[in-house]
Amino acid sequence: MGAGSGGFEQGELAGMPRRLFRASPSKLLAWVDCPRRYRMQYLERPTPQTRPQRAHTSLGVAVHNALRDWWDLPGERRTPAAGAELVRTSWIESGFRDPDHSRTWRERSQEHVTTYLADVDPHSQPLGIERTVSLKTGTLALSGRIDRLDDRGDGLAVVDYKTSRTVPTDDDARTSLPLALYAAAAWKMFRRRCVRVELHHLPSGTVAVHEHTPESLQRKLAEAESIAADARRAEDDYAQFGVDSGRFPAQVGPLCQWCDFRRHCPAGQAFGPEKSDWAALEDPVPAT
Ligand code: SF4
Repeated sequence: MGAGSGGFEQGELAGMPRRLFRASPSKLLAWVDCPRRYRMQYLERPTPQTRPQRAHTSLGVAVHNALRDWWDLPGERRTPAAGAELVRTSWIESGFRDPDHSRTWRERSQEHVTTYLADVDPHSQPLGIERTVSLKTGTLALSGRIDRLDDRGDGLAVVDYKTSRTVPTDDDARTSLPLALYAAAAWKMFRRRCVRVELHHLPSGTVAVHEHTPESLQRKLAEAESIAADARRAEDDYAQFGVDSGRFPAQVGPLCQWCDFRRHCPAGQAFGPEKSDWAALEDPVPAT
């Protein structure tokens, strides 16, 4: 029974306003990617066991942590070499083929961070580093964490670091739902105009940029509400029927070869062999 239908909702009385649906941008995208995976990741308890962390995730976490911690150093110590050292101390060995493979990628990542930081003004302190932002709409309570939020004088800019093989384009920045939601949330929280979103690709030094308009941010918020409405209907069904709910179909496709929950999903296992722990260092993971 839908919201506002006057019926009896899960744990709520007829006629009372429904609680807001709480979600992060990644939770909304998980629903779009595969409702079956969403069920396992966000609803089933205990959460089905996932596979060990892959190498590209280890690399991404280490680089993000290094770029975060770099801003905690005193201004005079924020050098590119210090960034490379932070990559070394943040490094996570999990998922690489062997110690040599891990070292090769660690050194490569240190070079990428060194090159990237050479163009960053160490005295231009961002407004936020891994800053949590939130925003409420009529139906949705959104929250998420921004890699970096810059004050560019005439407005704020959302910066997202990318470490994958695929070089992002301006169109990727334009179509990204998370970036738009972060911009809308930052605008609301800081009461400063925030329409600029950027993808900073460490391996290539590419910066993909898009300037939203208030209208395009509004369209993204409407898109988020629409996804959330579908996910909420499915969650209500899950509360009633559990894993027998028919609202969580397996979205079988190339992502199944990378899926952390694949071992619990016979339909996904039928789609080609599982990718190795380090495959994403060589092959791009399919876009979603
Ligand atoms: S293996 Fe594929 S179909 Fe199964 S949960 Fe993962 S992404 Fe979905």
